Amino acid sequence: MTSAAHQDASPAAGLRALVVEDDAPMADLVASYLDRDGYEVQVTHDGIRAVEVARELDPDVVVLDLGLPGQDGLEVCRQLRTFSDAYVVMLTARSDEVDTLVGLSVGADDYMTKPFSPRELVARLRAMLRRPRPLGARAHPQPQLRSFGALSIDPLGRDVWLDGEPVPLTRTEFDLLGALSARPQLAFTRRQLIDEVWGSGWVGDEHLVDVHVLHLRRKLGDDAAASRYIRTVRGVGYRMGTGA
Ligand code: CA
Repeated sequence: MTSAAHQDASPAAGLRALVVEDDAPMADLVASYLDRDGYEVQVTHDGIRAVEVARELDPDVVVLDLGLPGQDGLEVCRQLRTFSDAYVVMLTARSDEVDTLVGLSVGADDYMTKPFSPRELVARLRAMLRRPRPLGARAHPQPQLRSFGALSIDPLGRDVWLDGEPVPLTRTEFDLLGALSARPQLAFTRRQLIDEVWGSGWVGDEHLVDVHVLHLRRKLGDDAAASRYIRTVRGVGYRMGTGA
């Protein structure tokens, strides 16, 4: 408990965050919460500039408003995904927009509808940041590599190879594959995967999982009809495939 309390004092120390929001007071509010959590924060108010700043900053986390001058958050996210695996939280003005966005599979990792609590935003980010830390794994060493046919997963290094070639995954895609491959016998429900990857406090459309599975399958050369790596379990959700 003591070490956890110590870490929580500055959970995001050394990480970079980019806030893209044209509502300046809102941007400053979000930035101040992130700053308090230890992030190095940059703020930008328009969509074109956002992509330029992201290229320079190489952020770990991006808080991205949907409605922006210049180009909207969708386009920013699309461009960002061509060079960044930052954790993207998209801010929307209406809750029904989230369904549309999830359907468009733009590559955001999470969504929050305005008005939202900046406290909840940083809490979600903290929960996300806690996941990949290899501290627990070091205390209880696990086999380094998980192999499924031509697919190899290194859970500690967070690397994935297919036929010996590295597969670039976003943080969320890796976490999803990591959860499935850690317990390959288990058929996960969408809710279980949400709990594993986004945290049990996450509230929203569980079909967000399907969007990330779609991306993962594409990157793994898999398809829904004959999936080798991520199997659909009818009426349940997903489980790891053997690669055959
Ligand atoms: Ca806006």
